[in-house]
Amino acid sequence: MRLSRYFLPVLKEDPKEAQIVSHRLMLRAGMIKQQTAGIYSWLPLGYRVLRRIEQIVHEEQERAGHVPLLMPTLQPADLWRESGRYDDYGEEMLRITDRHKRDLLYGPTNEEMITDIFRSHVNSYKDLPLTLYHIQWKFRDEIRPRFGVMRGREFLMKDGYNFDLTKEDALHAYNRHLVSYLRTYERMGLQAIPMRADGGPIGGDYTHEFLVLAETGESEVFYDSQITDLTFGDRQIDYDDHAQCQAVLEEFTSRYARTDETHDEAIFADVPEDRRRTARGIEVGQIFYFGTKYSEPMGATVVGPDGARVPVHMGSHGIGVSRLLGAIIEANHDDKGIIWPEGVTPFHAGIVNLKQGDETTDGACESIYGEMRAAGLEPLYDDRNDRAGAKFASMDLIGLPWRITVGPRGLAKNIVELTNRRSGDSIELSPQDAVARLV
Ligand code: ATP
Ligand code: MG
Ligand code: MG
Ligand code: MG
Repeated sequence: MRLSRYFLPVLKEDPKEAQIVSHRLMLRAGMIKQQTAGIYSWLPLGYRVLRRIEQIVHEEQERAGHVPLLMPTLQPADLWRESGRYDDYGEEMLRITDRHKRDLLYGPTNEEMITDIFRSHVNSYKDLPLTLYHIQWKFRDEIRPRFGVMRGREFLMKDGYNFDLTKEDALHAYNRHLVSYLRTYERMGLQAIPMRADGGPIGGDYTHEFLVLAETGESEVFYDSQITDLTFGDRQIDYDDHAQCQAVLEEFTSRYARTDETHDEAIFADVPEDRRRTARGIEVGQIFYFGTKYSEPMGATVVGPDGARVPVHMGSHGIGVSRLLGAIIEANHDDKGIIWPEGVTPFHAGIVNLKQGDETTDGACESIYGEMRAAGLEPLYDDRNDRAGAKFASMDLIGLPWRITVGPRGLAKNIVELTNRRSGDSIELSPQDAVARLV
């Protein structure tokens, strides 16, 4: 992408409405625009990152054997009357009436709708196990939308639903989700710690929230510091292997880690004092097993091996796709701007032309740009007629992991500069070697 033809409305001044760094940087880097409280347009740069996060979520869901579909944002109220949640859900639900006076709602979650799809088409235990998921916009009329996309009213969520014959199978689905989430967040450069949590309006006793530690997090968390030493890495997992998934769950949940809702001082006191931590965290996902809570009232049953109809065991599993942008920036920034982890960066590298209009420099930038694209990388070429200082400041603000700086003085020695955004380290090398380093 050439910056002269892109749409990157960066702001020079700090926007007053932003209280936390990720919100401020997303506005300053021209990633989002608020349209009304808690509702945002995703400008091109923000949209690119959102799509990369979605892509990672899709890849890891499909790797775990989960099946994508797409349900609508608007739902008929009648489905929610069947489960009993229409009245219970309260003011967070946006209720809408159409021209025929039929009650609709903008979905805050999809347990009812997916259960309806399941009961319409699945009849036999032979079609199980089944996990369906989608990535779709949700609406929750949050009492205090704030912190930009972290607590929006309209937000993008991946929500998945497992259908199983037995509790044991459904708990395997729970474990499978835990494993796939560990991989998913790590690919985004995040440490998200599974913590014992509370079921809330979704219901159920088995539930873990995934939290990213950050001072600006809205949840208070308590944990054994040993948990932060765990990484999932690139281990090979057979997602159908119950024992293997169970072992990962045990490894990642055996140490004390709880949110304030389930925190228990008496148990916490057993953790050696020097390892006891109290901190704040951002909830980036949650998994639930809730048994037959929806399948029973809504009649989602299958014929079992003995010929009798039984309600299926279910769980639901959410990832806060749009909130993740905020969480990633909270965990990856400095005083100059964002520092994207390689896994989610909107562009792989920036090319800064120090002397736009100079034939040699323009030519060298063009060939670096062309070679990177030919190698399958997506560079952002700052080809605007602007001061070097201003170009550097925008590149630092938008946080691409690498910058290639090209100017006439270096080119006279066949040299460009390759700079790492995170460390700030620069090395000088030939234009060809600079590209080769990034491939
Ligand atoms: P919170 O406690 O932050 O209100 P929640 O527990 O109500 O979140 P869930 O129902 O567990 O949310 O939804 C799954 C995920 O969707 C959450 O883990 C979170 O990452 C994301 N999410 C929930 N509410 C919002 C919101 N208002 N804006 C952005 N993301 C959200
Ligand atoms: Mg909530
Ligand atoms: Mg919560
Ligand atoms: Mg939650």
